[in-house]
This record gives sequence, C-alpha cells and structure tokens, in this order.
Amino acid sequence: MQTDIAHRFRPFGASIFAEMTALAVRHEAVNLAQGFPDFDGPPTAKDAAARAMHEGHNQYARMIGVPVLNRAIAASWARSGRGEVNPEASVTVTNGCSEAIPATILGLLNPGDEVVVFEPFFDFYVTAIAMAGAIPKFVTLRPPTDERGAWWFEPGELRAAIGPRTRAIIVNTPHNPTGKVYTRDELERIAAECIRHGLVAITDEVYEHLTFEPTLPHISLATLPGMWERTITLSSLGKTFSLTGWKIGWAIAPEHLSRVVRAAHQYLTFCAATPLQHGAAAVLDAPGTYAAELRRLFIENRDALSAALSRAGLRVYPSHSTYFVMADHTPLRFADDRAFCYYLTERVGVAAIPPSVFYGTPGLGRDLVRFAFCKKRETIAEAIGRLGTLARG
Ligand code: GLN
Repeated sequence: MQTDIAHRFRPFGASIFAEMTALAVRHEAVNLAQGFPDFDGPPTAKDAAARAMHEGHNQYARMIGVPVLNRAIAASWARSGRGEVNPEASVTVTNGCSEAIPATILGLLNPGDEVVVFEPFFDFYVTAIAMAGAIPKFVTLRPPTDERGAWWFEPGELRAAIGPRTRAIIVNTPHNPTGKVYTRDELERIAAECIRHGLVAITDEVYEHLTFEPTLPHISLATLPGMWERTITLSSLGKTFSLTGWKIGWAIAPEHLSRVVRAAHQYLTFCAATPLQHGAAAVLDAPGTYAAELRRLFIENRDALSAALSRAGLRVYPSHSTYFVMADHTPLRFADDRAFCYYLTERVGVAAIPPSVFYGTPGLGRDLVRFAFCKKRETIAEAIGRLGTLARG
C-alpha cells in the first residue's frame, strides 16, 4: 500500500540532514554534513541533569519552562547587555529552536500571510511556513565579492519582498549556512522596514555565542530602538554547549508575542524534558569558559579546513561565525551540488551538505557546498587528509 504524504510536505522530500548523515554512515565518511559536535558538552550541565533525574524531576515540566530555567535564560540575556526581561512573561522554553520555529510561525500566521525569508535559509523556516499555509517571499543573500567580504543583500530586494499581506520577517544571525553576521547597518534597515510595515521579526540566534571576528559582534535585532515590542528572539542551548541532542531551546518576546508562541507550543509538545531543563539552567548560570574554548577550536578548524578546500581547488567563502563554511565547487566541474556532495561522500570519504535545499529560488545553490567544522581537531585532520585525494583527482 502506498500512502500519499500531505500536500504541504510534498515539495520538501526527505530532510537533507537525515539523508546526508545516513549516506556518511553507509560510506564511513567523515560527517561534515549535519552540524553537530563529535565531542561532549560540559559536566556542569550533565551532572545537574543527572542530579535532577535522581532527585525526582521526572514528570512534565511547566508548559512555559521550569522556573529556574526561565530565570537562567532571562539572567543570561541581561548579562550579555540586552536588558532586563521578565522570566515568566517573556521566556518560553521549547524542544530546541527546531520546535520554537514552528511554534512561533503556527502561533502567528494565518493561511495566505506572507513572510520574508533570506535565502539561503535553514530549511525549517520554510517547512514551518508551509505547515501554517503561509507564503515565503525570498530575499537572496549574495556571496562575497572579495576574500574578506561578507554575504550581502540588496536593500531594494528587501523592500520589494514586502507587500500588503506581509506579516513577518525571519532573520537568522549568526547565519546558517553562510557564517554571515548581520551588521548593525543591515539590522537597522530591517528594523526600519518592520516598523514602517508593522511586521513581526522572528530571529533565530542559536549561534549567538559562536562569532569569530571582533569587528563583527552578534547584535540582537530586539535590542534596536522600537524592536523589542515586535520581535520574537529564538535561541537554544545546543550550539553554545555542544548539547544538540538535548533539544532545549527558547523564545524571548514581550508578553503579547509570548502568548502567540505559547498558543502553539502547548499543543505541539507542551513542555521540554524536565531533567534536561534543570541541566540547562545550571550551565547557563555557570557557563565558565566553555564557549570561549569552543570558539578557539572552531577558528582553528575553520582555518585548517578552508585552506584544505582551497588547495583542493574550491573557492572558499569567508565564515565569520556559526560552525559552517560555504564554498563554490564549480572549478571542479561537477554537474551540481548534489552530484558533488555524493561524489565527495562516496568516493572521497567526506560528507557535506548540498545547499540548493536552502534556497527558494530555483537554480540557486547548485554551485555551492556547505561543510561543518564543529568537530575534534583529529576529525578535521582526517577530513583534510581525505580531501587530498580530491585535489589529485
Ligand atoms: N542545524 C543543523 C545543521 O544545519 C541540523 C539540524 C537538524 O539536523 N535538523 O546542520
């Protein structure tokens, strides 16, 4: 018997992360495709989660999050200079940012509403928009034109994407997959459009602590004048503390927008895992130097991998943040990004992501490939060794 998948999911096919990880496992390739670390998170988090489990914190958590975690998230936001937020009214704990995305979009949008999305995008935005019956309008980030440049967008394209049905805009900074950090200038432009057109801004800031350039610090759109009351800021624990499997995320928003997120969150998952929320609270309250050490490792990995990719003949774009680097594979003359990624995984033994799935405009992304460098030094060294065979053809 063959059962049809609902129309809303048909255009998307299988998740590229599941597909490429399965291919990597099958071919024993070094998995630089799906972005997750191959090392563990800090003991502060794990010990506190285990303790919570033994101390009987094993039933449903409060729908909006266990109080200690709501407080820890609000305190961490305040410590980074972004202002005081009310942990009860303004913080909602979710099952990773990956649940916060559909909770926000399903809670906010009606069928036919339009949402501005920068492409390339993390694919969850567009699938969540489809679940809501809403319509994405794309603004293309263009690759840097020189060695030191950043991905950029045409302000006119942003203005043109906004129409009478536009309700929201999604801004992912630091940006997956390009490693772009939106500048204050760019965020001010976006804020001006939000204010002019009465849009809600949804920001995904899960890589907020993984920026590598002192001249390009992370800025939360919610901190710009006039933006707090119209912004839902999403983030999570996983990237900062190498705990991607814990799926602890959150939304920070003024009360009227927290209501929107909670309206959907309560019926999607109701709450995130209780003991892990206690672990998350402990590490957010005592983060130590974990993130700083991670940044050091990732900068080394980025530099080593980028150099190896250049030696192999790819044109590598600078990555200023996250744990991804994008490159143009066209000098190697493969048909497209999927052909290149399959060859690389099956024949060279290094898995990567074909970025065309991160574009809404047909044809874009076919020249590109995304690598994750959130791995042990040894893992990156092994990948670099294997990439040598690519260079020799
Ligand atoms: N955020 C991760 C990435 O971009 C993957 C998330 C997932 O597997 N769904 O690689």
